[in-house]
Amino acid sequence: MQGANVSADVETRKDGPAEVDYDAIGIGAGFAGLALIHYLREQGLSVRIFDRASDIGGTWTWNRYPGAATDSESYYYCLAFSKDLLQEWSWTKRYPGWEETHRYLRFVADKCDMWPHIQLNTEIVEARYLNNRSCWQVTTGDGETFTCKYFISGMGMISEPMIPSIEGMDRFEGPLFHSSRWPQEGLDYRGKRVGIIGAGATTVQMLPVVAETAASVTVFQRTPNYILPAMQKPMTPEWEREIKDNYDAIVAKCRNHVFGMAFDSPVGRNAVDTPPEERQRIFEENWTGSFRWVFETFDDLLTNPEANRMASEFIVAKMKERVDDPEIAEMLSPSFDDYPLFAKRPPLDHGYFEAYNRDNVQLVDIKDREPIVEITETGIRTTRNLYEFDIIVLATGFKAYTGALEAFPIVGSSGETLSETWKSVSESIMGVCVAGFPNMFVVTGPQAPFANLPTSIEQNVIWISRCIAKMEREGYDVCKPRLEAQREWTAHTADIHRQTLMAAGDKVHSWMMGANREDKPPRVLIYFGGANVYYDRLDQSAQEGFPELDFEKLDA
Ligand code: NAP
Repeated sequence: MQGANVSADVETRKDGPAEVDYDAIGIGAGFAGLALIHYLREQGLSVRIFDRASDIGGTWTWNRYPGAATDSESYYYCLAFSKDLLQEWSWTKRYPGWEETHRYLRFVADKCDMWPHIQLNTEIVEARYLNNRSCWQVTTGDGETFTCKYFISGMGMISEPMIPSIEGMDRFEGPLFHSSRWPQEGLDYRGKRVGIIGAGATTVQMLPVVAETAASVTVFQRTPNYILPAMQKPMTPEWEREIKDNYDAIVAKCRNHVFGMAFDSPVGRNAVDTPPEERQRIFEENWTGSFRWVFETFDDLLTNPEANRMASEFIVAKMKERVDDPEIAEMLSPSFDDYPLFAKRPPLDHGYFEAYNRDNVQLVDIKDREPIVEITETGIRTTRNLYEFDIIVLATGFKAYTGALEAFPIVGSSGETLSETWKSVSESIMGVCVAGFPNMFVVTGPQAPFANLPTSIEQNVIWISRCIAKMEREGYDVCKPRLEAQREWTAHTADIHRQTLMAAGDKVHSWMMGANREDKPPRVLIYFGGANVYYDRLDQSAQEGFPELDFEKLDA
């Protein structure tokens, strides 16, 4: 049904099933966009993926800051739909940098001949459900319009930058940009004075690399993080062989894990029931890098406050060992009394603490000691000092889960935008569809879990493609997410959230609850019941014929 790229004069067409330009239009040519092409094309549907970037890759084409790398281990940070692809691609290390992940995504697009389905350099500025035709119309920045039966967001859950409003930000005379908008052509920071606002996962990766050649780097930190070691290592031929001989099991492990990762857990023991010496030995022996430590030591670290305190204290002691200056070590250390481990997503470090032992690196506490007052022509003024810079990086995070979907009007059947719909609560059905937005799907939307993203993305796309397959097979024109199903999922998600350590009241200031946003109150954005449980729910929904949706046929 693939049509010409022409504007449709939509209002003049008669009511009823629409002639459309594409069966499915998706936005975002990262992992989600490529997965959509694979699973929908398999059904013989015409698919168009738009992306405003000049290349595919999503996160891995935007986030080109020095040190940008995955925090998932490479061999399961990939799409699992093709055994051939898994066997053919070779990762060079435990955590690939952005260049390598980007190359991997291009390899997938090449091998699977996906490029004809992708239109780059094309920003979508509006998506609108046309009630009279029961189809979607998207409008590009150039004013071109395209229609489709199914409209799907693959824009990513951590993609829309959170730009803080700091007085004088437009006055700075040097480059000032968000970390995810690091200049694509590169930026020569050698010998320059660099200021970084924010101390999350991005800064933890960026600082050690930038500090190597910059004249100086100053990090402005509001809240310290629990930081786990990455322990990078090269992929050896023996390790690669072991992985490739066991890929089915690795993919199954991800699908069945609470965090979507190929970890060996649950382990069948709790920290609180283990004698202190034994507990310490298990903590030490498993201090081998990645998030594994949290999941492969004890089963109660994220559920029992006492166990969480033990884990938090162990991590902080490890962190402090690596910082020479006790005062800086203290500034870098969170405490369980401030917030529990995993209430903020723990970064993985590749030499972050050692960077603070260098003469050219400085840490500024902008929470208690010297809050930022303004940005001037030449630097950042706090309540105590003026710090002069050549470059300022805003590593201030993202409007997670909903930001990309609220950044331009996505207009549903009532005329209301998603942004308006989500003013106080960001409701959805399992993160994949939203009441009032017929024939629209979201990959990893609000109220989906936070887990290894390629696993979650693929599980979402499988559910979406099964739903579309049902509609095509049974001749349905419209699917409408049911409000009661949405209320039920929202209540269930909130109920689970209340039982977690995330619900520690005002103590948890985390992007995971949208608490980093200046324009909206915090809310439950994540399903904390476990990614594996969530994937089971998706499967169950598909097996039962998608009871969360009403399906309709229109008269031809
Ligand atoms: P982040 O974790 O949200 O950290 C943002 C930092 O900016 C925090 O230190 C925050 O302080 C600070 N901040 C925000 N607004 C500020 C303001 N107005 N003034 C001063 N400081 C401000 O963002 P991120 O480091 O970009 O990471 C976000 C997520 O992206 C990660 O958790 C991860 O899921 C993903 N990510 C992944 C990778 C990877 O896998 N390799 C790498 C980078 C990012 P507060 O903590 O006080 O709010």
